[in-house]
Amino acid sequence: MTEPLSELIAYLAEHAPAFARRLQAAGLTPEEIHRPEDLSRIPVLRKDDLVDLQTADPPFGGMLAVPMQALKRIFQSPGPIYEPEPNRPDPWRWASALEAAGFRAGDIVLNAFGYHLTPAGAMFEEGLRALGCVVLPGGVGNQEQQVRAMHALGVNGYVGLPSYLKALLDKADELGLPLQVEKAFVTAEPLPPSLRRELQERGVIVVRQGYGTAECGNLGYECEAEDGWHVPEDVLIQICDINTGQPLPPGEVGEVVVTLLHREYALVRFGTGDLSALHTEPCTCGRSTPRLVGWLGRVGDAVKVRGMFLHPRQLREMMVRFPEVERWQAVVTRHDHKDELTLEVVAPEAPPDLEERLKHTAREAIKFRLQVRRVDHLPPDAPPIRDERTWE
Ligand SMILES: [Zn+2]
Repeated sequence: MTEPLSELIAYLAEHAPAFARRLQAAGLTPEEIHRPEDLSRIPVLRKDDLVDLQTADPPFGGMLAVPMQALKRIFQSPGPIYEPEPNRPDPWRWASALEAAGFRAGDIVLNAFGYHLTPAGAMFEEGLRALGCVVLPGGVGNQEQQVRAMHALGVNGYVGLPSYLKALLDKADELGLPLQVEKAFVTAEPLPPSLRRELQERGVIVVRQGYGTAECGNLGYECEAEDGWHVPEDVLIQICDINTGQPLPPGEVGEVVVTLLHREYALVRFGTGDLSALHTEPCTCGRSTPRLVGWLGRVGDAVKVRGMFLHPRQLREMMVRFPEVERWQAVVTRHDHKDELTLEVVAPEAPPDLEERLKHTAREAIKFRLQVRRVDHLPPDAPPIRDERTWE
């Protein structure tokens, strides 16, 4: 952290009117926010809120705390949503992640993220440049041209989607042009273990993944242990209950909520909509920062039942304890303007006390009262939650 949190909050409250209004709405004064824990008194800002703020008060919704002319770049992501880039080296803080993946000065790196309007291309270019890497700004598409350039230039590093690296290796095979990519930093889509293995078998010795968003930049990255994503030290990350917005203990699944620690943009208590959990046991690599266990889904998949979010993941974790249930689906209905939650189960072999045990576990583990109904059949691809409510 470059400056005390209280000073940062005071500055943002003075220069970003939308942030001042958020504090006020929460009944807080800037002086009340000293420690990271104090931030939890500010309600989580959702991405939808950000779109609304920007629409009402374009372009940055009153959250920019410096003149627009002082920025380095401005991006537009789908929404549309505008993201300001502070004018300083590596403003999205990816260098630490790339360094942990083995990127060094003098590496020749293909950056296969898009450079047009959206931030990823420029974000990673900044991180690579901060390390002294030489960047081939590939963007997405023109695979044959990219492969020819990689071959001719001896590109030894790759930043982009893991699936796109595989496509480039396939194209190189097809063209008979050997590549020398030996390290890759991948993000923006899941990296299945099978794909990591395949890339390694095809010569990319180190394949590491990271996690971030268009608004926040680097939020986590793998070390050599490849066991979770170390949280960078230059950002505050909380894992919060999707209903209350309050921080959860290590190990519990909740929303990744981010506070950026810089003076340009008042992104404070921003809910990414991504689900993860923190683990705090020391890592074999020696870094002391906690790790995110990985990407565990989207908050947006949750359904509001009786005013509380119910996430498919909560149900899945609960149902792991009931191996005797072959298939299940939670059904949300509405009678007399009241939501009802029923768990349909296919469990022909289960003893008669199954219903009671399910109800009890639901109350304890996911804090929902539900009815249980045994059914003869559910389709194998039945989604975890079926919402049958109508709002007429
Ligand atoms: Zn580690």
